[in-house]
Amino acid sequence: MHLNPYGADVVNFAADLANRPPTSADELADRCRTAGLVLERPVEPSDLDLTLAVIDAWTNVVDATGEREKAKLVNEMLARSAAYPRLTDHAHGWHLHYRDDLQPLGAVLFALISVGTAMHLVSRGMDRLGRCAAAGCETIFADTSRTARQRYCSHPCANRDAVRRHRARQSTPST
Ligand SMILES: [Zn+2]
Ligand SMILES: [Zn+2]
Repeated sequence: MHLNPYGADVVNFAADLANRPPTSADELADRCRTAGLVLERPVEPSDLDLTLAVIDAWTNVVDATGEREKAKLVNEMLARSAAYPRLTDHAHGWHLHYRDDLQPLGAVLFALISVGTAMHLVSRGMDRLGRCAAAGCETIFADTSRTARQRYCSHPCANRDAVRRHRARQSTPST
């Protein structure tokens, strides 16, 4: 399997990396394999450094206020990772790469996350990246729902917040 930048795979993987940053090159390699990324080269500490920098830039996109600011930050990521797209069949059929061949993993993730995020925002909506609305939770999520109304990172957070709001209503005397 290959991460599909048109689908939800890339933004969900970026959110996973941002919420729980890898602490070693080995862990990064494992997380990439688990996400379905085909690793072409051994993963080096420099790949981890670049990945963490990419995740920092991506987190700024998530937290940007307004569509213009968000677009500007994504465009900067695209510009920094740009290469011409090309057809390849190195793994399970023909697909597009938005990068040069045989790049180190850090550069692969940079291009993949930049392009995948741009496609997610234009195809699903500029407001489809966010942080959980539950008190005390800052988990980042990519909203790939049909309804475009995701506000929480998970069902437990949604339930916890519903209980909290219910209690707040009960403890407020009605006038
Ligand atoms: Zn590929
Ligand atoms: Zn949450």
